[in-house]
Amino acid sequence: MTTEHTHDKQEFTFQAEIKQLLHLLSHSLYQSREIALRELISNASDALDKMRFVSLTDESQRDCGLLEITIEPDDATHLLAIRDTGVGMTRDELVTNLGTIAHSGSGEFLKGLSTEQKSKAELSLIGQFGVGFYSAFMIADQVRVRTRSYREEHGWEWSSDGTGRFTIESVESPLPRGTEIILHLKDDAHDFAKPYRIKDAVKRYSSFVPHPIKLLPEAEVLNDQKPIWVEPKRQVTDEQYERFYQHLSHHGDEKPLWRLHVSVDSPIQFHAVLFCPPTNLERMGFPRVEHGVSLCAKRILVQHDCRELLPDYLRFLFGLVDSEDLPLNVSRETLQDNTVIRRIRGSLLKSIFDRLEQLAKDEPEAFQTFTDQFGMMLKEGVIVDFAQRERLAKLIRFGSSHKADDKLDVSLDDYVARMPENQKRIYFLGGPDLAAIEKNPNLEVFRKRKLEVLYLTEPIDEFVMNSLGQYGGKRLTSIDSDDLELPEAPAEEGKAEDAEASKAEPGFERVLTLFREALGSRVREVRESHRLTDSPCCLVNADGTLSTQMQRILKMANRDMPEAERILEINPKAPLIRRLTRLSANTDHDAFIKECGLQLWSNALILEGVTPDARELTSRIESFMDEAAEKRSPLIVM
Ligand code: ADP
Ligand code: MG
Repeated sequence: MTTEHTHDKQEFTFQAEIKQLLHLLSHSLYQSREIALRELISNASDALDKMRFVSLTDESQRDCGLLEITIEPDDATHLLAIRDTGVGMTRDELVTNLGTIAHSGSGEFLKGLSTEQKSKAELSLIGQFGVGFYSAFMIADQVRVRTRSYREEHGWEWSSDGTGRFTIESVESPLPRGTEIILHLKDDAHDFAKPYRIKDAVKRYSSFVPHPIKLLPEAEVLNDQKPIWVEPKRQVTDEQYERFYQHLSHHGDEKPLWRLHVSVDSPIQFHAVLFCPPTNLERMGFPRVEHGVSLCAKRILVQHDCRELLPDYLRFLFGLVDSEDLPLNVSRETLQDNTVIRRIRGSLLKSIFDRLEQLAKDEPEAFQTFTDQFGMMLKEGVIVDFAQRERLAKLIRFGSSHKADDKLDVSLDDYVARMPENQKRIYFLGGPDLAAIEKNPNLEVFRKRKLEVLYLTEPIDEFVMNSLGQYGGKRLTSIDSDDLELPEAPAEEGKAEDAEASKAEPGFERVLTLFREALGSRVREVRESHRLTDSPCCLVNADGTLSTQMQRILKMANRDMPEAERILEINPKAPLIRRLTRLSANTDHDAFIKECGLQLWSNALILEGVTPDARELTSRIESFMDEAAEKRSPLIVM
C-alpha cells in the first residue's frame, strides 16, 4: 500500500469478523484473561525476532541496540504498558495488521466458530486459541498502540475502545523504534496492574520467550529464556517441556500427548523438540490447522509455522527445529529446495515414526488416545506419502469383528497374526458406524467360519485400503465384493453341508429367473449366494467396482454420480426363499414371486441406509399386508 495519507487523525472501521471477535473477547471468561498478556508479549517477541533477523541481514540495521520487552504497570491510574524494541509498524502496517484478519491465529479461530461452535460454548474455548492482538480487549476498554518502524523516522498512534472503530494519527514527538501498547484496564481487570499478577502470568505463559521480559520500575527480568532444545534431554524437566509446549501452541494449561526431543550431529547438525497436542481440532470440525513448527538457525528464529519441515499430514505437531548448518539469510522462497531442510525433514520423519512405534509398543494406552485423535492424519499419510506408506500402515488402527468393545485399536499386523494359514486375504467392511456394520448380512459367512473382518468406520478408511491394495502380500478385500476367495472350509464341515442343504432345491433357478425379469436393469445380476446363512439376500459389488461404503461416500460428495450396478445374491436356504422355490412350480404365483424379488432388493438397499422409491415400496408392502390379512379373514363379497 502506498497511499498518500495525511498526518491528521483518521477514523477506520474494523472488518466484520473482528467486530465479532471483539464482542466475544470483551465478554470472555474471567479465568482466560491472562492470555491477553501472553498474546501481547508473544507479538512483542515476534517483533524482536524480526528485528534481530533484519539486523543480521541488512547492513544498515547492524546496530539494533537492546532487544527486549518491558512491562510497566501503574496501579494508581490502572494503566499497563507493554513495550518492545522490535521492528515497529508503519502507518499502512497498522491499518492492515490491526484492522483486518489476515493470517493470524484469530482468523482461523473465527472461521471455526462461525461453522461449528456457536454463541456460548466458544467462550470457554477462547483460552485454547491464539486470539492475538485483539485479546487486549479482554482486559482493557481502551487500547493505544504507539509505534515506529525501523524503516521510518516518524511514529504513529493507533487507538480504539474495541467497539467497531479505531483511529490512527501521527505522533509529533520522537518515538523510539518499536512498539508500545498501552492498556486502560477495565474496572474488573485492575489487578493486571499489580506486579504479582504480571509475574504470575509471565511465569505461566511466557517463560520461553527468547528475549528478556523486564518488569518496571526495578527492571527485574521475569523469564528464563533458556533454549531447552539445545540442552541434553536428561536435564530438562517435564514441567519445562510442558511450559515450552504451551508457549509454542498458545494453548493455556494443556499438556501434550507425547513429545520428541532429538539432537543430531551428522550429516546435518540440528536440535528439535516436537509435541503432539491432546486434541485434534480438525476432528472437532475446525478448519485445517496450520503447521506449528518453527525453524531457527543458530538460535535465531527464521520462520514460524514452517511448512517445509514436515509433511502436510503431520501438520498437527508443534515444535521447534534449530540448526547450525542453516544460513541465517535463508529466505522463505528458498526453503523449499534447500538441501539442509530436506535432510532435516528426512531425519525428523524417521524419529517421529520411531517415537510412534515405541509409543505403540510401550504405552499402548497413550498410543490409543493418540490414534483416536490423530489416526485420521496418519491415514491421510498412507494415501499421500508413498515413501512412508509401509511404516504408516503399521501405525493405523481399525475396529474388528474379533472384539467385544468398540475401540478402534486393531492393527493390520494384529489381523495378520490371527489369520488361519490357508486364508489368503485381509477382509474388511466399511459403514457409517459399528452398529450399521454389524447388521450387514455380508458378515454371515464370516461369522459362521470365524474369519476376522476389519470394521472401517472413518470415511478415510476405505481410501486407505484402496491405496494400500495389499498388506504383506495379502490382498485387502471388501467383503461386499463379488470375489472373496474365502479359504477352503475344513473337510467335514464342508461335506456335512453338501449333503444337507447346500444344493438348492429344484425350482430355485426359476426363482432367480423371475427375480431377474422383475429387476431388469436395476441389478447387474441375480445369483445364488454362498456367503449368507440366515438372511434371504444381500447386495454385492462386481469385481473392479467400488465397495458400498465408498459409493456412498463419493455419492455424498457428488450427487450426480451414477448408481453402480450391483449383484443381488439370493440365499436358497432361507425359509422365505424355500417357500418361493416351492411356489415357483405353479406359474400362477409368478407375479407374486416377482413382487417379492423387488421387495427383497429394496430391503437390501434399506439395510444399507439407502431409501428406494418410497411410493412404490409402500404400495407394494400394502398389497402384501392386504394379502396376508385376506388369508386371516376373507372379505365376504355380497
Ligand atoms: P499474529 O501474531 O498471529 O500474526 P496478532 O493478532 O497477534 O496475530 O497480530 C497481528 C499482527 O500485528 C502481527 O502479525 C504483526 O504484524 C502486528 N503486530 C502486533 N503486535 C506487534 C508488535 N508489538 N510489533 C510489531 N508488529 C506487531
Ligand atoms: Mg500474535
